[in-house]
Amino acid sequence: STVYLNGAFIPVEEAKISPLDRGFLFGDGIYEVVPAYAGKTVGLEPHMQRMFDGLAAIGIKCTKTMDDWKALIQELIEQNGGGDLGIYIHVSRGADVKRYHAYPEGVEPTVFAMANPIKPAITDDASTAKGFSVATTQDMRWKRCQIKSTALLGNVMHFQEGYAGGNDEILLYNEDNILTEASSSNAFIVKDGVVITPILDNQILPGITRKLILDILEKDGSIPFEVRDISMEEVFNADEIWVTSSSKELAPVTTIDGKPVADGKVGKVWEAAFKLYTAHKFEY
Ligand code: PLP
Repeated sequence: STVYLNGAFIPVEEAKISPLDRGFLFGDGIYEVVPAYAGKTVGLEPHMQRMFDGLAAIGIKCTKTMDDWKALIQELIEQNGGGDLGIYIHVSRGADVKRYHAYPEGVEPTVFAMANPIKPAITDDASTAKGFSVATTQDMRWKRCQIKSTALLGNVMHFQEGYAGGNDEILLYNEDNILTEASSSNAFIVKDGVVITPILDNQILPGITRKLILDILEKDGSIPFEVRDISMEEVFNADEIWVTSSSKELAPVTTIDGKPVADGKVGKVWEAAFKLYTAHKFEY
């Protein structure tokens, strides 16, 4: 595949960075994943805005503008065949002359992007959709989860805990038994026809898929929703559970800690919400 590295589109085999790159040494960087279907992106501007916010939060000065990013991503999509792709973008603080914690002066950030094939959901029919299985565990990550940092070990260890038990994801809860998100997704529940998702704060990544879904539900008006704290008791008693991300879109969860979610079938509210999402996602 063709990747982008520091100004050039090159074969992935030729892409090389310094071992002194702070992305490598410290996980000192910000990343994004933007989905594209048949070459058309979903949520490109909000994704890049989140990247600008993350770079500002950690003081990385990258001179690329929204238009620069749009052109770069368009070119990368074309060079990779324009199909169903997850565009991964990574800006690290760059390679200093030594390993030293303080932010260096005058170091150029490293900019890397690649396009990986993604599989869109096969069906929006609840009777045939694949149900996800999730585990649950206490959220042991740091207290700046709103920053989309490339330092993902906390997320990776949580994901692995779920994966080792045969699960697709793992739901996380804080010290007060309140649902935060999942290791690589945001979380939603449905109770009595109402869609509920946690409030954005420092415990949660402000997911773009989450944002799009809430916006689409609000504009459509047929499915009520709430943004508020959700206890784990509510999660275990939910009618439906969903996890959302750029690569999995809106995924219905049918098993939690080895037990069925409600009747163990993919829910009807998921079906309606996923149809709305599919109909409107390219508007973002
Ligand atoms: N939460 C975490 C921890 C994530 O890593 C991700 C994305 O990978 C999400 C939520 C979902 O965010 P988005 O919908 O922007 O992909």
